[in-house]
Amino acid sequence: MARTPYIAANWKMNKTIAEASEFIDALLPRIAATQHDVVVCPPFTALHEVVERRRGTAVRVAAQNMHYDESGAFTGEVSAPMLVELDVEAVVLGHSERRQHFGESDEALARKVPAALAAGLEPILCVGESEAARDAGETEEVLERQLQADLSGLEAGQIGGVVIAYEPIWAIGTGRTATPEQAQEVCAFIRDVVRMRGAATEGVRILYGGSVKPGNAAELLALPDVDGALVGGASLDAEEFAAIVNAAG
Ligand code: PEP
Repeated sequence: MARTPYIAANWKMNKTIAEASEFIDALLPRIAATQHDVVVCPPFTALHEVVERRRGTAVRVAAQNMHYDESGAFTGEVSAPMLVELDVEAVVLGHSERRQHFGESDEALARKVPAALAAGLEPILCVGESEAARDAGETEEVLERQLQADLSGLEAGQIGGVVIAYEPIWAIGTGRTATPEQAQEVCAFIRDVVRMRGAATEGVRILYGGSVKPGNAAELLALPDVDGALVGGASLDAEEFAAIVNAAG
């Protein structure tokens, strides 16, 4: 089954509103002909501006995190309905930086993923192993544990609404991209795990993330089980990000 390539720009804690506007204005003409799903994930402060600037275009907008409750005494948090009100369409969940630096747990993700779907947001669920886990031969074990836990709040029929990003921690922001063999092997394994949960997997998009650049994107995106890319550093430059979007066949 042909899956539409899905290319997402994770800006992390980068870009003011002015810089975000400049980026979108530079990006749109460069990807005008694309048929791919192109998603930009700005910080909360620039969401409104990016949503407004991309109106009438194919670019979709994702937040980088959300809380699982709709409202309440959670100082500093933002809920799914608040994002939907802004016309945000998706949300990154479980990024390794949130797991490492902010204590994002699989228990919280098991609640966030269904909360996002219930509100009408597409979850982009990130999973990935550390370098130590890979060296110890525990990659599959770690990924299976994360996936089983993070998807545990969903019925099998809902899993098709989730985009899964395989992001090996050792490849994020390091310039050490996974080899095509590693990326394919793990993305195929992720599809198997999802299938074991009883979900139809032909339509599930599985992305690779970790030092994707214009120079390595085409090779990674051509792999049979890699349906797109989650791009960090190289997504901060409109020209580089457009080159990655246009590298997907
Ligand atoms: C990311 O943060 O999701 C990421 C993949 O970063 P980079 O492309 O910079 O490795």
